[in-house]
Amino acid sequence: MPDSEINLGSPLTVLRGVGPALAATLERLHLYRVEDLLFLLPLRYEDRTRLSRIGSLRPGSRSLFSGEVLLAETVYRGRRSLLVRIDDGSGQITLRFFYFSRKQQAQFKQGTSVSCFGDIRMGPGGLEVVHPEYRILRAGQEASVADALTPVYPMTEGIAQGRLRTLVAQALAMMEKNPVPDLLPADVLDEFALPSLHDALVFLHKPPPEANLEVIMGGKHPSQIRLSFEELLAHYMSLRNLRHLARKENAVALSGATDALSKFVSNLPYELTSAQKRVIEEIGADVCLPHPMMRLVQGDVGSGKTVVAATACLLAVSSGVQAAVMAPTELLAEQHWQNFSAWFSDFDVELAWLSGSQRQADRRASLEAIESGRAGLIIGTHALFQEGVQFNNLALVVIDEQHRFGVHQRMALRDKGASGNTIPHQLVMTATPIPRTLAMAAYADLDTSVIDELPPGRRAVQTVAVPDTRRAEVVERVRQACTNGQQTYWVCPLIEESEVLDYQAAEASFEMLTETLSSLRVGLVHGRMKAPAKEKVMRQFKQGEIDVLVATTVIEVGVDVPNASLMIVENAERMGLSQLHQLRGRVGRGAAQSHCVMLYKQPLGQLARSRLAILRDTNDGFLIAQRDLELRGPGELLGTKQTGLPDYRIADLVRDAELMPKVQIAAEKIQRDHPQAAIDITRRWLGDAHQYGKV
Ligand code: ADP
Ligand code: MG
Repeated sequence: MPDSEINLGSPLTVLRGVGPALAATLERLHLYRVEDLLFLLPLRYEDRTRLSRIGSLRPGSRSLFSGEVLLAETVYRGRRSLLVRIDDGSGQITLRFFYFSRKQQAQFKQGTSVSCFGDIRMGPGGLEVVHPEYRILRAGQEASVADALTPVYPMTEGIAQGRLRTLVAQALAMMEKNPVPDLLPADVLDEFALPSLHDALVFLHKPPPEANLEVIMGGKHPSQIRLSFEELLAHYMSLRNLRHLARKENAVALSGATDALSKFVSNLPYELTSAQKRVIEEIGADVCLPHPMMRLVQGDVGSGKTVVAATACLLAVSSGVQAAVMAPTELLAEQHWQNFSAWFSDFDVELAWLSGSQRQADRRASLEAIESGRAGLIIGTHALFQEGVQFNNLALVVIDEQHRFGVHQRMALRDKGASGNTIPHQLVMTATPIPRTLAMAAYADLDTSVIDELPPGRRAVQTVAVPDTRRAEVVERVRQACTNGQQTYWVCPLIEESEVLDYQAAEASFEMLTETLSSLRVGLVHGRMKAPAKEKVMRQFKQGEIDVLVATTVIEVGVDVPNASLMIVENAERMGLSQLHQLRGRVGRGAAQSHCVMLYKQPLGQLARSRLAILRDTNDGFLIAQRDLELRGPGELLGTKQTGLPDYRIADLVRDAELMPKVQIAAEKIQRDHPQAAIDITRRWLGDAHQYGKV
């Protein structure tokens, strides 16, 4: 390629020293074009800008120093090594080599000047450095210092640090001739006081000697903020654009059902909380428009999301169209089936059930009712969007516990409902409260409603952590509680990746408790039971015919038995914060004071200890989610990896949370005033695969 045509967009092979083999290695670091090297930021830096006096060196530091060789000797204490003693007038230090050649040995003649860089540590005979980088100086030659901090890049096998440095240096030199386009408009840079892209990149690859490394390592330098800002902006704008495009689609306007709604509400055995009423209104205002709603309802466990979803379904079915409710587990779907059947018994609507474990004949009957449009309200699991399901006029999709599903499943269900030129309204519900700034980044394509109030009379679940050496005491406590008419959940250890072991552990606890608590009725439910068997046990527990329900974490989401007021969680130390909070949310649903005992195996690690302490101290789901986010990061908090939350190259949703409100403002401005920049920014960070405006 002629020089004049080489630019930042050229393939890496235009760089000196990059052949096809190295280019393939670089691809593993997701580096394809010269520009990509500019966005490969150092993990840390080394300071070779200052020559330290040997007398001032501290163990634990990584430093550059120089001096004269006093003595070089090979010793055989345990292991053959070459020791070279260096002096600069202020002090002495030993260089220690375990691997060395004859030639190296010969270099360190007494009186020779050497400059060295390495980790200073305390050795048997004072300060020493093992295998320093070093250079022999010619007579009269000064040790040279770097004019910038030395970057240390993330490594991949097959490429040395020094090689990576020279490649980035070439890219930087190319950038000086061929400026990297600054995609952030000048007014945005000004408004948020951000440095230019050029300056930010130069600073981060070659920080000046006086740069504050502590600020850089914390990710808080304006140059880093500049880049994180642009990356967050790219993702945010792409999600906002999805939302914008979705809003332009058509949906069935669900209006004229206000009297049905008041009848529904007055049939309820309780008064809705004002938070529930507010969210019902927000949903109502969305679905009466002829464009699809895309709304996320957040509410802590027990805040009463189900009934809110039911009112939305009512708006659909009383407008003569179909609504579908999808839950992540059969247990939860069955519970919804029961609740919705009761709530809708006074309304003229047929319900249909779909789940994976359903008998063929039942499934066929359901499919027929759904396809013919006879069924107005469809409840089920993932089976809802599987092949063979043909909706008649699906106008509303409700997804419960949405963090258990991926964006793709959400989209699949929506697409299934697309008919003619309309797509269904979407209501997604989650009990994992997401800190506001994270929600902005992860769900920018959705509007959010928050049910920030629990039904009256709820009392915080009292929580204790107890070592499992005191299991017998805990069993005794279960006996007492149940003898007094309370019901108990006994939740069994979660065994990562193994349903079989999960169920065996539950089985063992079930046998132990059946034997020890012979006067009580003990039941067992786990994920491998057939649906009818599960249903039967849950019904018995709900009706008070079982005192102690031994369960795997299948009961984690959604299950609602208000009379249960004691929960024992085995191996609580293995579970995440949000998961424990969800589990604990199964109790504290009735008027009685509820308790949760978290049994743990000793010794307890630091992280597990702080998790259990947080749960003991608070019942506030938002606070717990915030702590969980800090402890585990957003991927874990939002559920599986399939949440569709992107991997950020530079930004960090926890560290950079406070940027999100600014990102939101900037995004609006750029999308309004600089539409081409919006497209270019998204393409730079998300690539062509995620084309702006296409899923
Ligand atoms: P979640 O938000 O965790 O899905 P649910 O919808 O399962 O909560 O409701 C939890 C419990 O609270 C249920 O037993 C439900 O009947 C009850 N409930 C819901 N709303 C109210 C209310 N306004 N007043 C009293 N109880 C309510
Ligand atoms: Mg629920």
